[in-house]
Amino acid sequence: MIKFDNYIGGQWLSPQQGHYLPVINPATGAVYAQVAASTAEDTLSAINAAQHAFPEWSRWSNEDRFAIMMRLADLLEARSAELALAETTDTGKPLSLAQSVDIPRAIRNTRFFASAVLHVSSESYQQEPAAWHYVLRQPLGTVAVISPWNLPLYLLTWKLAPALATGNCVVAKPSEITPYTAHLLGEVAQQAGLPPGVLNILHGSGPALGKTLTTHPHIKAISFTGSTQTGRILAQGAAPHFKKISLEMGGKNAALVFADCDYENMLNTLVQAAFSNQGQICLCASRILIAESIYDRFRADFVERVQALVVADPMLPETQQGAVISAAHQAKIMGYIAQAIALGGTIWCGGTVLKMPGRCQNGFFIAPTVIDGLEPMCALNQEEIFGPVVTLQPFEDEARALALANHTPYGLAATVWTRDLAKAHRMAAQLDAGLVWINSWMQRDLRVPFGGMKQSGLGREGGWDAWRFFTEAKSVGVANA
Ligand code: ADP
Repeated sequence: MIKFDNYIGGQWLSPQQGHYLPVINPATGAVYAQVAASTAEDTLSAINAAQHAFPEWSRWSNEDRFAIMMRLADLLEARSAELALAETTDTGKPLSLAQSVDIPRAIRNTRFFASAVLHVSSESYQQEPAAWHYVLRQPLGTVAVISPWNLPLYLLTWKLAPALATGNCVVAKPSEITPYTAHLLGEVAQQAGLPPGVLNILHGSGPALGKTLTTHPHIKAISFTGSTQTGRILAQGAAPHFKKISLEMGGKNAALVFADCDYENMLNTLVQAAFSNQGQICLCASRILIAESIYDRFRADFVERVQALVVADPMLPETQQGAVISAAHQAKIMGYIAQAIALGGTIWCGGTVLKMPGRCQNGFFIAPTVIDGLEPMCALNQEEIFGPVVTLQPFEDEARALALANHTPYGLAATVWTRDLAKAHRMAAQLDAGLVWINSWMQRDLRVPFGGMKQSGLGREGGWDAWRFFTEAKSVGVANA
């Protein structure tokens, strides 16, 4: 059986207490590997290794850091097929999705932030006649990067790349549910010649090592993507130490569909927006709000397309929907569907667990589900389900669309579907969301600020926001005399 050990100080180390957790392939339900169940001792070793590596790594020239990170990206690219297979084995997502989205994006993240290091400049201010001021942006030291199971390598590299490029050393804590590609990243880092201790990969369950990792005085910043509940625990732990934190958390994202939209484009994109990765992307559109005048037509057309989605073994090329992440998550999603029925909602398609033939007979599959007839304030319209479940609600006018869209504790993303540009801008300005896409979904540009409002997040990453997060600004004032 495959074993994923920790990568600390350039060495592969088994957890000091010797315990491992099972790693399950969600498409088959079978345990295929064991992952280190690290504890406080391992966490301290990783932090020490990072501390030890920092003085030298932070002195590397930008050109040298660029070169080694580009080498790392090239090696990831050379192992793309293996990485995509690992991602599918861990997550149950279609192999085609891992090949076309997850792995290419992980490589792009690495190259984007590696090359940014060549283009940074900092501000200076002339304070005539007395002085001038300039700003140093220096690495923080050791930072923690904590990532989730839905887009494992994609989200890990999204944080890791800017942290390393700015000269920090990292303790990376991938999700214990999906450790495979993080393990391969450790191999690639070693192959690329990244100095020992610059990147440490610490496996294990969050609660078992989280406290040590997030409250240790040597950890200067925590960049986290995961649930709002865990984000809250991290924020509470970090607050007394005044650590920098960046939290990317849940979403309950609305799509606002107006009658004057490009109907075909909207329909095709919303099927993707709702069900990509089995609805397990924080940016997925999980609440579709539709102008009354086209509501019935939309529902009929949308349901027809959702019913046509191919749910099958993730390894098959025709598969569009794979398994959800775990038996527990499947049960949670089915619990929401049961609630919808109890509340008098109508299930237009899906609503059931799917039994697959052959090797996937014990996998965790759910038929893509479309529900309407629910009150805006019910759990299904307020809480993040994070699965292949979408609700539909009609609206009469712009004001009602906005009220429905904004009335949740979350504020991550929204999409607006209209050909009326003035209306689109009006909506964008008034939506409580960190990201608004007009006539598109998940149109990502790595330069733009990324993050959420309200319970969806704290801070922004991406582009210069990531740069600022992973550096400390120091203002230097020089007298002109
Ligand atoms: P989900 O519920 O979607 O699995 P989590 O927020 O639990 O999301 O997990 C996201 C990441 O946070 C994972 O790497 C997980 O191990 C980690 N994590 C969970 N709890 C803690 C904690 N108390 N401290 C630090 N990290 C944690």
